[in-house]
Order: sequence, then structure tokens, then C-alpha cells
Amino acid sequence: MNPIPKSESEWKKRLSSEQYNVLREKKTEIPFTGRLLHNKENGMYTCAGCGSELFPSNAKFDSGTGWPSFDKANAGNVELKKDFSHGMARTEAICRKCQGHLGHLFDDGPTKTGKRFCINSCSLEFRKK
Ligand code: FE
Repeated sequence: MNPIPKSESEWKKRLSSEQYNVLREKKTEIPFTGRLLHNKENGMYTCAGCGSELFPSNAKFDSGTGWPSFDKANAGNVELKKDFSHGMARTEAICRKCQGHLGHLFDDGPTKTGKRFCINSCSLEFRKK
């Protein structure tokens, strides 16, 4: 992918408006609308902003929330940050490489990792193996 944009106007050109609202402005996509929500193919989920490899397909599970959910991330590529917006204490998941907002991490996952990465579909691309 091309070098990471340096300005918000460059980001606007690269991303769709939905992607821009999520990745750059930390908005949340409407649940059950994402293109990758029900994707079950083998491969790698990458950042829609910069192409960084974020979540392997074997980490994906159906959380019933309407957003793609993962029980682990490619640790080096997903950064975690405290997020106190909207009157809640949450952990934000961002792309380390481009600092794009992906979603949030919760500790109520159903698998043995106990983790639930709740990720906006539009912040992701999928590369089939
Ligand atoms: Fe990125």
C-alpha cells in the first residue's frame, strides 16, 4: 500500500467516508451492516487504512454483537489504549502503524483467551489465503 497519509485531507482521499469516520474519527459503524461480519474464509484481516496485518481468520468468532469479533490480535500490530469517551472506561484497539481506530477490546470473550476484540468491519480488509 502507498505511504501512510500525513494529513487528514490525504486520508479523506484514500478512505471511503464510512472508513474515514471510523478509522480517523473513532466513530462506530452500524451493527450488522459490515461486509466482513459473516466472512468465514481462511486468511488475514488487514487494516483498511494501511494494509498492516491485524487479525488472523482463526481468531474470528461470532459474538452476536453485529461487529466482527476476534479472540486475539497480531500483538505487535494492534495497539491498546485507555478510552474514557462516552462516559465509559474502555480499551481502544488501534492500528499501530497508521494509528487508525479499529474498535475496542473487552475481557468477556467466550474462548480460552477471554478476549473479545469488537472491530468495525469497515476498518478491515480481508486477504484470502
Ligand atoms: Fe493501519
